[in-house]
Amino acid sequence: MALALTALSGESQPATPGSPGPGVSAVLAQERAEVVRDLRYELTFTIPADRRQPVEGRVVAEVGLKARHRLVFDYVQPPERLRRVRIGGRDVNVVVGDGHIVIPEELTAAGVNRVEFEFTAGDEALNRNDDFLYTLFVPARARLAFPCFDQPDLKARYTLSLRVPAGWQAVSNGSEHARRAEPDASVIEFVETPPLSTYLFAFAAGRFSVETAVRGGRQFRMFHRETDAMKVARNRDAIFDLHARALAWLEDYTKIRYPWGKFDFVLIPSFQFGGMEHAGAIFYNASGLLLDESATQNQLLDRASVIAHETSHMWFGDLVTMRWFNDVWMKEVFANFMAAKIVNPSFPQVNHELRFLLAYYPQAYQVDRTAGTNPIRQELANLDEAGQLYGPIIYQKAPIVMRQLELMLGADRFRDGLRAYLAKYSYRNATWLDLVRMLDERTPIDVTAWSRAWVEERGRPAFTTDVKLDAHDRLVSIGLTQRDPLGRHLVWPQQMRVALGYPGTVRELPVSVASDMTTVPKTRGLERPLYVLPAGAGLGYGLFVLDPDSRDYLLAHIEDVPTALTRGAAWVTLWDNVLESRITSAAFADAAARALSQETDEQNAQRVLSYVSRLFWRFMTPAERATRGPGLEAMLRAGLARAKTQSEKAAWFNTYRDVVLSREGVVWLDRVWRREEKVPGLTLAEPDEITLALELAVREAPGWEEILRVQLERTLNPDRKARFAFVVPALSADPAVRERAFARFRSVENRRREPWVLESLQYLNHPLREAHARQFVRPALDLLRDVQQTGDIFFPTRWMESTLAGHRSPEVAKTVRDFLASQPQYPQRLQWTILTAADELFRVATPGIAGAEAPALPNTP
Ligand SMILES: [Zn+2]
Repeated sequence: MALALTALSGESQPATPGSPGPGVSAVLAQERAEVVRDLRYELTFTIPADRRQPVEGRVVAEVGLKARHRLVFDYVQPPERLRRVRIGGRDVNVVVGDGHIVIPEELTAAGVNRVEFEFTAGDEALNRNDDFLYTLFVPARARLAFPCFDQPDLKARYTLSLRVPAGWQAVSNGSEHARRAEPDASVIEFVETPPLSTYLFAFAAGRFSVETAVRGGRQFRMFHRETDAMKVARNRDAIFDLHARALAWLEDYTKIRYPWGKFDFVLIPSFQFGGMEHAGAIFYNASGLLLDESATQNQLLDRASVIAHETSHMWFGDLVTMRWFNDVWMKEVFANFMAAKIVNPSFPQVNHELRFLLAYYPQAYQVDRTAGTNPIRQELANLDEAGQLYGPIIYQKAPIVMRQLELMLGADRFRDGLRAYLAKYSYRNATWLDLVRMLDERTPIDVTAWSRAWVEERGRPAFTTDVKLDAHDRLVSIGLTQRDPLGRHLVWPQQMRVALGYPGTVRELPVSVASDMTTVPKTRGLERPLYVLPAGAGLGYGLFVLDPDSRDYLLAHIEDVPTALTRGAAWVTLWDNVLESRITSAAFADAAARALSQETDEQNAQRVLSYVSRLFWRFMTPAERATRGPGLEAMLRAGLARAKTQSEKAAWFNTYRDVVLSREGVVWLDRVWRREEKVPGLTLAEPDEITLALELAVREAPGWEEILRVQLERTLNPDRKARFAFVVPALSADPAVRERAFARFRSVENRRREPWVLESLQYLNHPLREAHARQFVRPALDLLRDVQQTGDIFFPTRWMESTLAGHRSPEVAKTVRDFLASQPQYPQRLQWTILTAADELFRVATPGIAGAEAPALPNTP
């Protein structure tokens, strides 16, 4: 073979003139978007049965050019993996390096250019397992697997052919149109797709079972690897129904038919995300869809939501795609926003306003209250950094912001604006500003100005309330003051309904907040309320510092608040006030212990139970845990006994399992794990038993080694078995074994299965082992950049969270601060990742520094 490759090696070498530089820069993307037209990829991959053998590939890129122009392909592999480049059938010399293949202008021609590459695919984005693999190319990882233009606004038509071991299934964006058997292999060909961004192109192949169903005249296929046939049977109809309902709803809302022809989805064990919206072939984390009998109401809702979310992406994101990844939040917000609208009718028994509140606000605040928060819309100079745009700010805050926009415009005008936008940009790309322009045409409101505080800037407002009473204890006024905690004097215009509490009732007063000082209308002469809760109707967004009377009342009587939504909002507000050191953790714990026994709404109970567990491990010292533990355990056992449904019981049981420390409690859990004792009304599935075994081991329950050994034997599902075996060393009572378990993560090979790594990190850094685990914090920080460069998009954040969640010591807080101080040139986004993950640690270890600028209140009633 006569191919000469000129290798550019590393950044130390002088770059050739006009070298595109590493990654996919905004400049390169723009150059390519201007010249490339009518793009097609014909792709062939040969997947060997042995996963240590490389995947070989061939791609023919058909590139339309108006005039001769250099073509810079992305391909992030060593040059020797590129075996051949041909243009128009002739072998050519090209420049390879920096993750690019540069075809010089003189080798191109006006019109159609056929560029052919033979190459070895990198495994990084192929997620290869012994008998299956799947691609995951978001945000710009296709270039690890094959030469392409890896940017969202160069949409291409793909024709894929896969040679796979005999007996394997395969699925991709296009439907399968031919299959032929060869010795020991099958060749599967797929039809050409409509125009797709590289991050949405995908395939999966391997030993999968396929379930098929027809709904509304359309065939749906579900690929999965679940070995428990009962589990599949129990879940399959619900899964198909949820997809069909979401799809019908979206066709009606958008007035655009489902754009991708066939509809397949693949359930993948330990998938990196809840789901990924590959057009026509959605990938899901199997455990989110195939639920156990013990599934909670929240898990059922989460499942419906993730299905509606990914299905919404078929329009929002796949059909119309952001031009550049700085607008990645748009597709996420629309998917979440539509999901909330879609899921509601399927769960008539659920309080959806409360669900919106609890699904989005606490998580958005979890980032937006910290020094590491980021704006919804961020600048992005290179796709190498795109992964860091993802997080609760786009997944949780943006839907809240979008609901505010819909409230401001009115639901019909908003929907009509979206329909026009989808129709105008179908199979193309658009920016947030393209949408803002279309909405601005439909309203007298200045959407561009509104967008600045909410979308372009980071952080949230801090509100205080000022309640004025006359001599007869009647209201004179209620004032709301908003302040920008970051000192920029920003104002967040928003629609709220302020809740005033009275015995047995809640009165809601609508208010449009447009400036830093707002007076709530129609309050004069009203009777003095028991409490004023500006966020009490589940709309207001920000830190709401409670006035002393409202704070005292809610801590003493929150269970008397008659509406579930207002109670939920009160809990979220109280928790914020705990973090701001305006309420002590003891006062919150007392209120929770008292009110939980009377909480009738499962969503609220779940939320408060999760606060209780966070409070217990993060905010209490070991001595406080010892004092409060027995009372807490008794309260949780009583709740478990009282709970009526399987899902309620699971919520109480799981919290009990997470916090139990007493000898009797551990003995009881051990009996449950041994199946010597049954919790009436609660069925424990394999994953529950696995968690039980891990929790018993971290407590060093008598015979913990035997427990882990037996659990490994007992585990039937091969994927769960492998994960369990991987995690076990992190549970050892021998510190040396745990140190080796951590040391594994220095090697990228041992970090490939990210959920396994995160579970190991959580147990290594479990609060019961935090003293020993302090030594892991600095190395984990040192590894973060590497983790970011080699891992998937959520991994750096979760890596940090799993490392720090178990810590509360001033030493570890200092370790984190010292690390940041020692690295002034550290990338800002990663710095934010650390600051957000360390926020609660800072608040606990060094109260008064992280959050509240105002002095902490000395005590609470
Ligand atoms: Zn999404």
